[in-house]
Amino acid sequence: MRFRRLATATVSAALAVLLAACGSSTKTVDAKSSNPAGSNVGALVGVTMPTKSSERWIHDGDNLKSALEKLGYKVDLQYAENDIPTQVNQIEDQITKGAKLLIVASIDGTAITTQLQEAADKHIPVIAYDRLIRNSPNVSYYATFDNYKVGVEQATELLVGLGLKKEDGSSGSAKGPFNVELFAGSPDDNNATFFYNGAMATLKPYIDNKTLVVKSGETDFKTVAILRWDPATAQKRMEDLITKTYSSGAKVQGVLSPYDGLSIGILSALKSAGYGTAGQPYPVVTGQDAELASVKSIIAGEQYATVYKDTRQLAAVTAQMADAVLKGTTPQVNNTTDYNNGVKVVPSFLLQPVAVYKDNYQKTLVDTGYYTAAQLQ
Ligand code: BGC
Repeated sequence: MRFRRLATATVSAALAVLLAACGSSTKTVDAKSSNPAGSNVGALVGVTMPTKSSERWIHDGDNLKSALEKLGYKVDLQYAENDIPTQVNQIEDQITKGAKLLIVASIDGTAITTQLQEAADKHIPVIAYDRLIRNSPNVSYYATFDNYKVGVEQATELLVGLGLKKEDGSSGSAKGPFNVELFAGSPDDNNATFFYNGAMATLKPYIDNKTLVVKSGETDFKTVAILRWDPATAQKRMEDLITKTYSSGAKVQGVLSPYDGLSIGILSALKSAGYGTAGQPYPVVTGQDAELASVKSIIAGEQYATVYKDTRQLAAVTAQMADAVLKGTTPQVNNTTDYNNGVKVVPSFLLQPVAVYKDNYQKTLVDTGYYTAAQLQ
């Protein structure tokens, strides 16, 4: 697969650049590794990912596996199709198989406390991947993107699309008011709250002064959250909003969507209701992950924007963390304040998300080798 070749080729370079660019302060924390240096050469690493139903996790798994294998480790990579008991069994199985370290992108961040205790009892360190694992003292490190900033970027994209802001952050010339609707991610995913909080802090002044009108009145996180990030659930909610709130002629002009898969469901509901024509254009719809279908949709002028998180970088950082822990040394982190999992602040490495619009996808996604131009045709 071309993506994988490019990814592999660029991982080491990307890691070197990003570690410098992220200004990692080489702040150190105590690694909870009980493994003396040298004893973990070629050890088994257990990697659990939430689902293959979203492209990004497939890239994450592939990139992580190859980065760890390059460092000489054996990798057991599992996907759970968003089923919590399946992920629980996979983690238990990896412990039984003798994994010396676990990397977990959790489905429900609160549901694996028991398994993490089992791991801790056997001195197996755990790294939370992309999503924080909550309510457990047994999480050694966390590698992710700046999730609050992802939400800020999504809200900014909405404002840019409505003409209230420009891409450079300066004010736009539009005045509003604009009708918007809001969606959030899965309530059991710690990231979803960070995304929503970042977005809402950015939108609040515009909602307060009535430039943006959430016509349905639905702004509470729990009300707008979409369990398991399910596109069909988002599509259904958008259909219901159109029926309940927009049946008397008012149009929805913007939709805050936190993930490309949801954006596709939302756009599909809008299309069925007659949006997407010259006389009735699609509202400004945001997203996240720069998934292929959504980037194509952006190029076609349907979805407005997405947030790109380079999964090659995340895999590289995580593999480097795992390697340090397995060698009994201290991994590099750049945040020791923001990610309290309910029991402790988990030392984290945060990467930077990037806003992607129709006018910069070439630079952000093609020039960086994330996609080839041919993939986007
Ligand atoms: C990830 C996002 C992703 C979402 C749905 C979140 O935890 O950070 O990148 O869009 O899950 O898979």
